[in-house]
Amino acid sequence: MRYSFIQPPKNNFVARIADQRVGYFTTRVTDLSSKDVTPYRDLVERWHLEKADPEKEISPPVKPITFWLENTTPIELRDFIVEGVLAWNEAFLKAGFENAIEVKIQPDDADWDAGDIRYNVLRWTSSPNPPFGGYGPSFVNPRTGEILGADIMLEWVYLTNRINLKKLVPSKYMCSHGSLVQEGKLLADLINDDDPEVIKQSIIRLTLHEVGHTLGLNHNFKASHLHNATDIHNKEITSKLGLTSSVMEYPAVNLAPVGVKQGDYYDVKPGLYDQWAIEFGYRPDLDEDKEKLYWKDQTNQS
Ligand SMILES: [Zn+2]
Repeated sequence: MRYSFIQPPKNNFVARIADQRVGYFTTRVTDLSSKDVTPYRDLVERWHLEKADPEKEISPPVKPITFWLENTTPIELRDFIVEGVLAWNEAFLKAGFENAIEVKIQPDDADWDAGDIRYNVLRWTSSPNPPFGGYGPSFVNPRTGEILGADIMLEWVYLTNRINLKKLVPSKYMCSHGSLVQEGKLLADLINDDDPEVIKQSIIRLTLHEVGHTLGLNHNFKASHLHNATDIHNKEITSKLGLTSSVMEYPAVNLAPVGVKQGDYYDVKPGLYDQWAIEFGYRPDLDEDKEKLYWKDQTNQS
């Protein structure tokens, strides 16, 4: 067994108290000197974003969240993955940030390994018995909930026609979005004769979902129904609003019935719920309960 230690950052990160109505991963902090019957708080897991110009309604961050594409990623898929990551920037506008997220490509001659925790890497793997189809773990400061780093694992098998029977019943502890997208993609390819939009939109959707996890967002399984049965096939509407209200949902592929023109297969940008959730998690001037910010003082002393 191996343990790795990371020095916690010394910065002015402000912990944000979680609200159960908004689906964030949380870190629980307990005040062991308190006599309160509930001496704990659940803190939202989120990145440390500060406005470069706090006076501006919308400002770039001092330090953006940087993701790297592993240099093993197939060249023909890179643009789709980059598009999926950068699509999150639209949601951050609601929180007052422009260009909150940036993407770089790991150079072929990089002198650092993709497993280096100082880099947030969208990994690309191909395994004979893959245990996942894409997931997005992150690690946080246990005192504040500040996300310190994240990696996303994308797996080749979910772009193939190879179904892993053992994985038909997914583990409840894993994100099975990848395998669901694979099933949807297989069906859409069969019906729509390998329409190139299927691969493009399924990769963007998978990336959006897994990056959403690394931004702190949990699943939202109430987000399927945003449109009626007619509007959902109308690209003019879905290109503006998305197909569902959250990319943290596990939607079925959107296939048009016989006689109806095929619209979007999958969401290619964060949904309305996602934008609202990012605003809740990342807006700096959110009206915090000052008493609750007691945790700021407690948790930032190092
Ligand atoms: Zn998931």
